[in-house]
Amino acid sequence: MSGRVFDVLVVGAGMVGATAACLLSRSGFSVAVVESRQPEPFDPTSETGLRVSAFSPGSTDILTETGAWRQIESGRHCAYRRMHVEDRDESVTIEFNAPEFGLERLGTIIENQLVQWSLWQTLQMMAGVEIICPDRVASQAAGDSEIRVVLESGREIRCRLLAGADGAKSVIRKLLGIEQQHWEYGQHGLVCVVQTKKKNPGIAWQRFMQGGPLAFLPLQDGASSIVWSRPEGEAFRLMKLEESDFLAELQEAAFSEDTNWPGEMVSCGPRAAFPLTMRLSDRYAGPRAVLLGDAAHVVHPLAGQGVNLGLLDAAGLVETLLEARRQRTDIGGEKTLKKYERWRRSEAEVMARGIHGIRGLFTPEALGPIRKLGLGLVARSWMAKETFIMRAAGKHRNAPALSRGQALTDLIHPQID
Ligand SMILES: Cc1cc2nc3c(=O)[nH]c(=O)nc-3n(C[C@H](O)[C@H](O)[C@H](O)COP(=O)(O)OP(=O)(O)OC[C@H]3O[C@@H](n4cnc5c(N)ncnc54)[C@H](O)[C@@H]3O)c2cc1C
Repeated sequence: MSGRVFDVLVVGAGMVGATAACLLSRSGFSVAVVESRQPEPFDPTSETGLRVSAFSPGSTDILTETGAWRQIESGRHCAYRRMHVEDRDESVTIEFNAPEFGLERLGTIIENQLVQWSLWQTLQMMAGVEIICPDRVASQAAGDSEIRVVLESGREIRCRLLAGADGAKSVIRKLLGIEQQHWEYGQHGLVCVVQTKKKNPGIAWQRFMQGGPLAFLPLQDGASSIVWSRPEGEAFRLMKLEESDFLAELQEAAFSEDTNWPGEMVSCGPRAAFPLTMRLSDRYAGPRAVLLGDAAHVVHPLAGQGVNLGLLDAAGLVETLLEARRQRTDIGGEKTLKKYERWRRSEAEVMARGIHGIRGLFTPEALGPIRKLGLGLVARSWMAKETFIMRAAGKHRNAPALSRGQALTDLIHPQID
């Protein structure tokens, strides 16, 4: 057994856990990371990967503070300043333009693998971080001043706080006995990269229709990454179609006389489908332990907010621990963890329930006039659009300071007037 006691043990080095570990280490906390499998290296000469995410401006600010952003930015990415949302049946359209809201961009589309690999490499270079991979947590026991974690390899790690960022099927959440509210949408998100005759000019386009939304997210080379939410059986059928038949159905779903966007489909790469669920953990904290990212919450991808919420958790956790350190209180103590839990759980709940509600407007049971009224109100109200955009951008009042553009060094060494 090691005599060393780490400040924080982060379990899971996905995009969220690795971000938390980088920020914690850069804040001067001693950190250990346990990851079950080494991430795949990112190959810049490869075809664009299937898994991409829309990173909000707040998320890119957080990633900047990890030290990994330079590497990410030097790889494939596509910033978008315009978002077009439309309702196929009721022909309501909503346009969002970044400058209208004082933003330079609405988001940046980046492959998950590039982000995870860049963070992983950044972690490897951090002197204060011990990476244990491959390994998994087998058990944990919290005491008064530390928590002892036993790994499947038999190694024991002692730390003041355990941070579970081990994804939707989190073992840490199960070990802590935290229950979740859980909705199965009976839908799958079908993803693939699509080449269109007319290059995507850098617009995120989303069409709501019965059965689920269809999104075209712009990629650097003018192609689009699509997420097409379909009822389960329908998604499986689309997965099995020949490419030409699949493109014909996609063309039909995307066709719009009004906007003629995204235009003619030319080809597509491999397809994959992911089950869509919403999960909200009843608690985000247990004795000397917290949850973050998909371990704590999973949301429908229609608003592209899953990883963004997770990065806000990572920033929120670091800010909470820095404040505890400034006040010389225990970083794994109940007071500190309750504060994190209250903050992040309420924020995730607002977002998750908002997305759940929007999705509900497009179920067969929802009445057309109600849908039209709801969307029409957002389309006409600048206030509603601003509230929506600033929250999605991670720039609202209650967002962590790092997401609102503050530098980590300013949080570590705050200026006292
Ligand atoms: C179709 C689709 C489209 C999406 N699009 C967007 C989007 O545009 N924008 C957005 O913000 N979000 C999007 N999301 C959601 C986003 O992908 C997730 O929210 C995000 O990947 C979660 O990251 P995470 O680090 O919390 O979890 P994960 O990515 O699941 O990482 C968990 C890590 O923990 C490791 N691990 C697991 N178990 C253990 C264990 N027992 N011990 C040690 N390590 C372990 C895993 O190997 C992994 O590295 C989308 C999701 C889907 C399904």
